[in-house]
Amino acid sequence: MKIFNTLSRRKEEFVPLEPGKVKMYVCGPTVYNYIHIGNARPMIVFDTVRRYFEYKGYEVNYVSNFTDVDDKIIKKAIEEGVESEVISRRYIEECKKDMEGMNVKPATTHPQATQEIASMLKMIQTLIDKGYAYAAFDGTVYFRTDSFRDYGKLSHKNLDELQSGFREIKVTGEEGKESPSDFVLWKPKKEGEPYWDSKWCQGRPGWHIECSVMAKKYLGEQIDIHAGGEDLIFPHHENEIAQSEAANGKPFATYWMHNAFLNIDTNGHVQKMSKSLGNFFTVREISERYDLQVLRFFMLSAHYRSPLNFSAELMEASKSGLERILTAAERLRDAGKAAEREKAAGTQGMSASEQENRTLAEELAFKYEAAMEDDFNTADAIAAVFELVKLSNSTVSPDSSAAYIDFMKELLEKLCGVLGILTVRKAEALDEEIEAMIEARQQARKAKNFALADEIRGKLLDMGIVLEDTREGVKWKRV
Ligand code: AMP
Ligand code: ZN
Repeated sequence: MKIFNTLSRRKEEFVPLEPGKVKMYVCGPTVYNYIHIGNARPMIVFDTVRRYFEYKGYEVNYVSNFTDVDDKIIKKAIEEGVESEVISRRYIEECKKDMEGMNVKPATTHPQATQEIASMLKMIQTLIDKGYAYAAFDGTVYFRTDSFRDYGKLSHKNLDELQSGFREIKVTGEEGKESPSDFVLWKPKKEGEPYWDSKWCQGRPGWHIECSVMAKKYLGEQIDIHAGGEDLIFPHHENEIAQSEAANGKPFATYWMHNAFLNIDTNGHVQKMSKSLGNFFTVREISERYDLQVLRFFMLSAHYRSPLNFSAELMEASKSGLERILTAAERLRDAGKAAEREKAAGTQGMSASEQENRTLAEELAFKYEAAMEDDFNTADAIAAVFELVKLSNSTVSPDSSAAYIDFMKELLEKLCGVLGILTVRKAEALDEEIEAMIEARQQARKAKNFALADEIRGKLLDMGIVLEDTREGVKWKRV
C-alpha cells in the first residue's frame, strides 16, 4: 500500500510501527458552530482510509479531537451570554449527528482539549526542563524554535527565511518572545475567559500543544499516520512535530497525510470554503437538499489530494451516480429474493458463462483494490464500482443462478462498504427497521410481555409511526 507522505513529498510503502495495527490521529474541528462541508472533507476522506485499513485486516486505533477551547468559542459564548462549555458541548453533539449522517464512524476516542489540561501542563514542563521552551515575563510560555534542529521539515520551510518573514509582522502582546517564529504553548487568561491554574500564570493552552498531548495519551509517543487538511501543514503540524519530538525524543508520525481544499466559485473567484470568508455551506444545510450519502459520494469522486470545487452540477452528477449504484443493488436484492425459491428447491450453481462473468467481476475488484493501494485513489475505485454495476446490470436477470446473484450482490456491497457508501436507500432501511420493530412487538404480545409491547409502540410513535391492529394483521402509517 502506498501513501503520499507530506514529509518526504513522495509516495511511500506503508509499513506499520506494529504489525497488523494502525495508529492514526486526525485533527478535528473547533466546535463553535455547525461544521461546514470543507470540514467534512477530511472527515470523509480519512474515515475511508480507516475503513480500507480495516478491510485489509488492520486493527485501527483512530483518534480525532474536538478543539473546545479557542477564541472563537469564547466569542460565541460571550455573544450568547453562556459559558464556553455550553457552546462546545452543543456543537460537539451537532457534529456527531452530521458525522452519523455522512456515515463517518465514531473515532476510537474523541478527546476534548479541556479534559486534557493536566497532561498539557506536564508536556510544557518537560519542554522547559529540556531547554525547548521558556516562560516570558507575562507568564506566556513559548516554544523556542531555534532549539529544534528539524523545525521546518514538514512544511519544507527554512527557519532563517521564516524568521525574516515573521520579523516584518510585529504583534503586540508578544514582546516576551525571544524570536519571532517562537509559538505559544500556554497563554495568560483575559477577562471573562476560561482558565486553568499553572505555575506560569492562570491561563489556557495554545492550540498546537493539544494535539501533541492527545496523540501521545491515546496512541503513544510514536504513531503511524497523522492527518488533516493541507492548511494545517504550517504552522499547526510543523509545531506539533517540534513539540512531540522535542518532548519525547522520538520521531512522531511516520506518515503525514493532507487533503486538498474543498473550494467554491463565487462570481468567478475560486476560493477555499471557510467560515471566515463566509462562502460556506454547513453539512446541515446540505442535508436539507440531499441525502448526506450524496455528499460523501461527491467527496470521494475526487482524489483526496486534488482540489475539489463544490457546485450544484457536481452534486447533481453525484446524486445520479449514486442512484445508479443503488438501483443496481436493489435489482440484485430483488433477483436474490426470486433466486431464494430456487435455492430452497436445492438447485444449481453458476453456469459456465456466469463463471466467466464472475472472473470479470473479480478483475474489477482487483482494479478497485489497486486504486485504493495507490494512495487511496477513490476516484479510480469508484470507476471500478461503476464497471461492476454495468456488468451486473447486463448479466443478472431473474433467471440467473442464486450463486451468481449472491456473489455479485456481496461484491458490490463490500466495495461500496469500504467507501462508506450504503447500498440500501435510507427510506428502505427505515421501512425494514419499522417492520422488524412491529414483529418484535407481536412477539412480546404473544409472550404476554405487554410492558415491552407498549414500549415498542411508544418508540414507533416517537418515530412518527402509528400502528393499527386489523383483522389482516398490524398495519402502520406515518403521521
Ligand atoms: P478547523 O475547524 O478550521 O480547524 O478545521 C477542521 C478540519 O477541516 C481541518 O483538518 C482543516 O484543515 C479542514 N478544512 C477546513 N476547511 C477546509 C476546506 N475548505 N477544504 C478541506 N478541508 C478543510
Ligand atoms: Zn491538530
